Amino acid sequence: MSEFDFDLFVIGAGSGGVRASRVAASHGAKVAVAEEHRIGGTCVIRGCVPKKLLVYGSHFAEELQDAERYGWSLGTPKFDWPTLRDTVLRDVERIEAAYTATLDTNKVEHFHERATIAGPNTVRLASGREITARYILVAVGAWPVVPDFEGSEHCITSNEVFHLPELPRRVVIQGAGYIALEFAGIFNALGCQVTVVNRSDAILRSYDEALRDRLLQITMTRGIEYKFNCPITKVDKQADGTLLVTAGKHDPIPADIVLLATGRRPKTDGLGLENAGIAPGDKGEIPVDEFSKTSCDSIYAVGDVTDRVQLTPIAIREGHAVADSLFGGNPRTIAYDCIPSAVFSQPPLAAVGLTEREARNAYGNNIRIYSSDFRPMKNVFAGRNERGLYKLVVDAGTDRVLGVHMIGPDSPEILQAAAIAVRAGLTKADFDATVALHPSMAEELVLMR
Ligand code: NDP
Repeated sequence: MSEFDFDLFVIGAGSGGVRASRVAASHGAKVAVAEEHRIGGTCVIRGCVPKKLLVYGSHFAEELQDAERYGWSLGTPKFDWPTLRDTVLRDVERIEAAYTATLDTNKVEHFHERATIAGPNTVRLASGREITARYILVAVGAWPVVPDFEGSEHCITSNEVFHLPELPRRVVIQGAGYIALEFAGIFNALGCQVTVVNRSDAILRSYDEALRDRLLQITMTRGIEYKFNCPITKVDKQADGTLLVTAGKHDPIPADIVLLATGRRPKTDGLGLENAGIAPGDKGEIPVDEFSKTSCDSIYAVGDVTDRVQLTPIAIREGHAVADSLFGGNPRTIAYDCIPSAVFSQPPLAAVGLTEREARNAYGNNIRIYSSDFRPMKNVFAGRNERGLYKLVVDAGTDRVLGVHMIGPDSPEILQAAAIAVRAGLTKADFDATVALHPSMAEELVLMR
């Protein structure tokens, strides 16, 4: 008989927590997981998955506009928000059920209530029950930051945006990062008037400047308005229920919804970290070592709560590595270099490796930049003026491709394959030696000279 109720108790059934639970159980561990909201976490319930479906749904606007040039007459297209919203929410339920089934199949016990840390080997459920475990894994994720200004309670975050009762006519979005630009694209495509308000003059700070400029230019042409260097200072609710947004010295902006997309903070408040002697970092994150172990030997943490890289595939890898390390006889870490990422804006952009600026900082002038600024054939035919832009950053000394950056239709789909080449350390000569796949947009990757 073990001295503990479980070998592993996981707090949080999101991407990282579910993967760790399933893999630990498959290694023979007795595992339990507690989730206070819904199984699946941010990505499945109120993030990547429903967002991507809304991107697909809204993108039909562009396809329908272009369809006529391709011989289709469709009459006047009509869009119904409740249909899209409810179909998306049903799909989320389907995936949630699949995640739950995975836990059941692997005999992972799940508790649908909040759990907090009561000691190095003890968790306390909201019901008051205490459970012991040899190891505890914290995978509680992060939560949207709501900046402090008058009237912030009238605003929504990405938690609520999937449930809007009706399609707003006017949308103000605060922030110019991932969530802001993805939802700006969705609402703009659906015909809403969109204003993006940001405290600085930079969008998508971590991406290559050329891509950011291109996205700005295309989305402005599509009708998205930007107001830079002016965070929201006040939101007033009018008698008719609409909102009036004050930002900088601009005239107040009328809105039906205000979406705050100003980053996500690790969800450690009230988690009981102090009961295990764990001190959170400045942003509330749980500090961990390369094996995702906290300062307490029996407690690990993975995913957004550690604030290393806030991306689902990273949480999944971290959770898998912890399970293999603790129960699979295979102690291992994961690699954080060469992580591909994408913004599902319209058009989308995607990147892997060093930006031109990062490469210049690291290699000085010893780099070569190749770019292809082209109008996709599909756009030319449809009379759509938008241009794609691909960029390769190459180490001039070794010819190794250090970064690939793309904006244009389907760029995330194309970038995933290019990321393998960057990860493998391939050279520009390898790209050049690869025969183009014609006609495609992706062929630009091997035709840059
Ligand atoms: P981001 O970090 O991407 O962007 C935050 C934005 O809000 C920035 O423009 C920032 O401005 C601004 N901001 C930050 N704090 C404040 C503040 N206190 N007041 C006013 N403005 C502020 O965060 P998101 O919320 O968009 O997304 C959270 C995370 O979720 C991302 O970092 C990403 O890791 C993940 N995510 C990934 C997606 C994907 O992979 N496609 C999609 C959605 C989310 P400034 O630049 O000036 O600092």
